Amino acid sequence: MATPANRGLRSRDVPEAVRGVLRRLGEAGHRSWLVGGVVRDLLLDRTRHDPGEFDLATPATPGEVQALFRKVIPTGIEHGTVTVVEGGARVEVTTFRGEGAYVDGRRPSQVTFHGDLEADLARRDFTVNAMAWDPLADELRDPFGGRADLSRRIIRAVGDARARFAEDGLRPLRGARFVSQLGFRLAPATRDAIPEALPVVALVSRERVAEELSRLLVGAHAAAGLETLRTTGLLGVVLPRLAALPAPRVRHALAVASEPFLACRASGPAGDRERCRLLRMSALLHVLPPEEALQSVVELRLPNRLATGVVALSGGRCGLDQGGPPGGKGSAVDTRRWLSAVGREQAPLFLELWKADARHQGARTVVRTGEVRRFRARVAAELRAGVPLSVADLPLGGKDVLSLLPGVSGRQVGEALRLLLEEVLVDPDRNTRALLSERLRGWWAARPADPEHAGPA
Ligand code: ATP
Ligand code: MG
Repeated sequence: MATPANRGLRSRDVPEAVRGVLRRLGEAGHRSWLVGGVVRDLLLDRTRHDPGEFDLATPATPGEVQALFRKVIPTGIEHGTVTVVEGGARVEVTTFRGEGAYVDGRRPSQVTFHGDLEADLARRDFTVNAMAWDPLADELRDPFGGRADLSRRIIRAVGDARARFAEDGLRPLRGARFVSQLGFRLAPATRDAIPEALPVVALVSRERVAEELSRLLVGAHAAAGLETLRTTGLLGVVLPRLAALPAPRVRHALAVASEPFLACRASGPAGDRERCRLLRMSALLHVLPPEEALQSVVELRLPNRLATGVVALSGGRCGLDQGGPPGGKGSAVDTRRWLSAVGREQAPLFLELWKADARHQGARTVVRTGEVRRFRARVAAELRAGVPLSVADLPLGGKDVLSLLPGVSGRQVGEALRLLLEEVLVDPDRNTRALLSERLRGWWAARPADPEHAGPA
């Protein structure tokens, strides 16, 4: 029987390839359903377009599904999941499942297949993720009140939260991530069940933890997600070094990470999400000594690119929390040296982080914000002037050095280029071939005798 008026659920929002798979399964006597996050998102009017994001649940066994379609990839066949390839689209189809006892805080000891949709929904994590919709008949199955929770904006565990979290430590992390992505609250019983589940959460692989944190950080409601991590104790599992700091430092880190960075505004291009993630992760770790920030990144097994960026931004040479912008007294040379050290690409990220940090300095907020603003203006002026900032900006390269200085060694070429860079950082007007060649010859002539790399007498 069709439920009336499934507002937000329109079968035309389901890609034809997905409907085709549902139709074929139904014609073979296996009435099948869209389930999980995609139903949640369609009800929220968050339209999905990639057929790969439409999870189908079916009473057909994986073997029966394989027999019905020409091309089927046994993606996770032992868990009942296969990928049907139809007209270029890939659609995941999972047999209704039940699960045996959980053994390692992540995975059930065994999986059983059955024909009972409700039992399949009962094993899902949250009520808003435990709905099924048949777009062909327009029937919604919602045995746990997921729709009501959606409209009240609540994340509630299916069944007894303590038992569900004890089975699988990933669930509390997913819960906090949904808080960030959707702006929902955790139901009180769901939230209260988290602290005692922390030992189980600690069993989750670091990569999965990092993945959930990464997604939480770029959610539209990251502040709420981070606050959930902190107040439930999940932060101690996710970033133990941060969580071990005195409470005001932790709150400061979270406040900076929650700033509305430009890169974190919704609907930015993909690159901005990465930037947003980088800024927020760096902000979280900026209160740690650089070695500890590095250790945190290593322990989390962050993907390389992100890890490198976070390490550069959160600590080390340009420590955000260590006295604010360099060149505070305002010399243009200091500004150029700083720009040269961090690089054109990274500079705006530092400035964004400093600005965010400055806004959470209590009594010093006004002073610090002003310092950052002035430094930012100086940086902008240097960049507008197009001053040389790296060896690549010099009119002389390694080959020129080799031909200008007879007998120079490879190591000395590097030294010479750094010398020229320093020369033009002090005075950008000296960035000409003639002046730098002259400087180079002078340096070569005046260098102390080097027995290893003796030049001509
Ligand atoms: P997103 O795709 O944005 O991560 P999602 O809810 O679709 O959100 P998936 O990981 O794609 O999440 O999982 C699909 C569905 O599988 C979920 O909606 C939920 O019903 C179920 N599910 C996923 N992970 C778990 C888990 N750890 N425990 C119980 N059910 C889960
Ligand atoms: Mg999904």
